[in-house]
Amino acid sequence: MSVLQSRYEERDFDEQNALRIVGARENNLKDVSVSIPKGKLVVFTGVSGSGKSSLVFDTIAVESQRQLNETFSWFVRNRLPKYEKPDVEAMYNLSTAIVIDQKPVGGNARSTVGTMTDIYSLMRLLFSRIGEPSAGASTAYSFNDPAGMCPQCDGLGHAMQVDLDKLLDKSKSLKEGAIQFPMFGQGTWQWQIYANSGYFDLDKPLSAYSDQEWDNLLYGKGEKVPIKSSGGVAQVAYEGLIHRFNRLYLKRDVSTLAKKNMEAVMNVVAEQDCSACHGARLNEAALSSVVNGHNIAQCSMMEIADLIEVLKEIQDSIGGPVASAIITQLAAHMRYGIRLPIPSS
Ligand SMILES: [Zn+2]
Repeated sequence: MSVLQSRYEERDFDEQNALRIVGARENNLKDVSVSIPKGKLVVFTGVSGSGKSSLVFDTIAVESQRQLNETFSWFVRNRLPKYEKPDVEAMYNLSTAIVIDQKPVGGNARSTVGTMTDIYSLMRLLFSRIGEPSAGASTAYSFNDPAGMCPQCDGLGHAMQVDLDKLLDKSKSLKEGAIQFPMFGQGTWQWQIYANSGYFDLDKPLSAYSDQEWDNLLYGKGEKVPIKSSGGVAQVAYEGLIHRFNRLYLKRDVSTLAKKNMEAVMNVVAEQDCSACHGARLNEAALSSVVNGHNIAQCSMMEIADLIEVLKEIQDSIGGPVASAIITQLAAHMRYGIRLPIPSS
C-alpha cells in the first residue's frame, strides 16, 4: 500500500473537515491512516493489488453504507444488503457514499428479471392490465408495496420466526426457567402471564406437557390473568408465548429496542422461508393472477429467453404494447447488457 498516495494542494487542505481514516486493515491494507480532503476530486492510484479498492470500496463505502442503514427502521433495513463493520480503527467525518460500480451490468439469456427493477415495473403494469383475475393496480403486484406484499413476511420471502429449541429448555419447568428469553424470564411481569394463568403445573417439565398444554403455552388466548407489580395487581389477557413474542418483538420496529434486548431477540429467532408465500414475496391475490398461465413471480424467475417467448404470445391491444416494450428491454439487456430508458407514459 505504500504506493497509494492521495495528492492535494497543501494550502487548500482543510484537515479539520477532511475524511480521516485511522488504521485501516481491510484485506491487504497494513494499518493505513490517511486524510482525504472533502469537496475535491480525489484520485486513488497505485499498481494492481496495492489496496485501492480495499480502502475506497471495502472500507470507506462499506462503513458509510453500514452507518446509513442503521438510520432506517427495522422494516427497511431488512430489505437492504447487510454490511459487516470493516477492519479499521477509526473514521472521522464520514459522509454518505455513492458507489458507481465499475462493472457493467452483465446480461445474458440465462439471467432473470427478478432483479431488474425497471423491467419488473413494466411486468407489473402488464399484469395490472391483463392479469386474470386482476389483483388491481400495478402496486398490487409489488412486493415492496403493502397492496401487493405477502402480509406474513412483509414481502421479504423469508421471515424471522421463533426457534422453539432456542426459546425453550424443555427439560425444565416454568419455575426452573424453561423460558430462556430474559424478558420472559422467571419472576418477570411477562412470565407471570404464564405462571399465574392456572393453565400449567409450574413444577412440570415442558417435555411432559400434554398437547393441550403445549397449545395453551404457545398459542392460547383467554381469560384475564392477575399480574403483580409494585403498582398493585393488573389484569392482563392471556396470550400464548408465540403470539405474544411475535407481537412484542417481531411485528414491530425492533430498532427501538435497546441493543441488549435486540440481541436477546436474535438469540431465540431464526430466519426461515415464509410459510405463506414460500419465498414468492407476494400476497395471494397477486400470486393467483395469471397471464397465459403464469403468475408474475413465475415470470420473474424465468430465464430471459423463455420470458420473451411467453410475452410474444400477448398480442391484444391492451397488453400487447406493454409486452412488446418489455421484449425490447429484454432483448437490449441480452445483447448489450444495458437497460434502455423507459418511456414515461
Ligand atoms: Zn411471505
